[in-house]
Amino acid sequence: QAIAAIEASQPIHNAYTHVDAEAVLAQAQQIDQRRAAGEALGALAGVPVAVKDVLCTKDMPTTCSSRMLENFRPPYDATVVEKLRQADALIVGKTNMDEFAMGASTETSYFGLTKNPWDIERTPGGSSGGAAACVAAGTVPLSLGTDTGGSIRQPAAFCGITGLKPTYGRVSRYGLVAFASSLDQVGPLAWSAKDCALLQDVIAGFEPRDSTSLDVPTEACFAATQSADLRGMRVGLLRQSLDSEGVDAAAVQAVLDAAKVFTDLGAEIIDIDLPHRKYWVPTYYVIAPSEASSNLSRFDGAHYGHRAKDDNGNEINDLVSMYCKSRGEGFGDEVKRRIMLGTYALSEGYADEYYNKALKVRRLIRGDYDAAFNDVDLLLGPTTPTSAFKFGEKVDDPVQMYLCDLFTVGANLAGVPAMSLPAGFDQLNLPLGIHLHAPALQEARLCQAAA
Ligand code: GLN
Repeated sequence: QAIAAIEASQPIHNAYTHVDAEAVLAQAQQIDQRRAAGEALGALAGVPVAVKDVLCTKDMPTTCSSRMLENFRPPYDATVVEKLRQADALIVGKTNMDEFAMGASTETSYFGLTKNPWDIERTPGGSSGGAAACVAAGTVPLSLGTDTGGSIRQPAAFCGITGLKPTYGRVSRYGLVAFASSLDQVGPLAWSAKDCALLQDVIAGFEPRDSTSLDVPTEACFAATQSADLRGMRVGLLRQSLDSEGVDAAAVQAVLDAAKVFTDLGAEIIDIDLPHRKYWVPTYYVIAPSEASSNLSRFDGAHYGHRAKDDNGNEINDLVSMYCKSRGEGFGDEVKRRIMLGTYALSEGYADEYYNKALKVRRLIRGDYDAAFNDVDLLLGPTTPTSAFKFGEKVDDPVQMYLCDLFTVGANLAGVPAMSLPAGFDQLNLPLGIHLHAPALQEARLCQAAA
């Protein structure tokens, strides 16, 4: 069914960069045989799952939607991919994304636009636009995305589905092609909070090959979603977000409606403020490009990835020319912009003014969350200021595109888990998302409240 749905959807939505139908059907048959033989199967036995093309898969390409990695086949699986296989999931393919996960609309992909299934003139959000669109289009019930500044939650909101960014360190980053290592997390996208919780339980856990992986017991998120009793839970309402400039009235109403539902279920709503919120986007857009400029230095044309030829199609012998031409051809404009911004922010004479200052502000932002979570158990606000925007609306104006992350980057800077869930529609009949934050390692509480 998934393969048939993908074949119907792909010409319209272009959510996938790679699907190998025969390989998937062969795996499905193997699982069926094991089931028939009475073997105990994993938690996701036979469930089709799509994987964002930034996660390494040894039997499929891993392109990061970049010309740089157009022909790259990793020799190993990312830990999360290993875990999917151990759970007997069927990995149906890889999904389209903004190049190297830099963007909020999937428009920077080398492999073309992904269309929002709710309105194909609109973006699915990004950078995990394919991972959200493939679920929203009904091709698979679950997918894996990654979130550095909102890339799971914003596309989930734009596509009317649920997405979870776990606590930093909760899910292994081994085999995730790094964008900004201190912010990146892998997480689930699905129709419902329960389905997200099920996938989160499969991918979470300590793993020594990621030096930032947290060596703490995981929580049972799916089990937590079975209770709808929120009595005694204190939910902090981010009033300040509702009053921000450019926030659509429908997005505000969706949050207020959700607050009412929480109250009806026994939770208490308390207004709360994160005082340094206005510095979130500027801080993120210093730290993320800085880390990106360092991480992306590995794509030099020598080790792997695209290697440019000279005008006659021959190898370029001069090393510096080979680097420059390979990177010049291999990377798109947004990636180059980030590399230049990051290199500047880290350079001698400017690092104190930009990168080191951003690190200090990041501490203040974390402090805001610590203080808030002394008073409340969860935070509630909008995921995005508006519903999905049209293609071309923001792609030529980087600052407008960066402002898509207004409400989401705080969770990455603080390392706390956050989730977007569907919360109705605006006047254009486009889906809206609401956004919940929880304290570090409280994914179970988050999934319970979301469910
Ligand atoms: N939109 C943000 C950016 O462009 C976030 C991307 C992400 O989370 N990968 O950096």
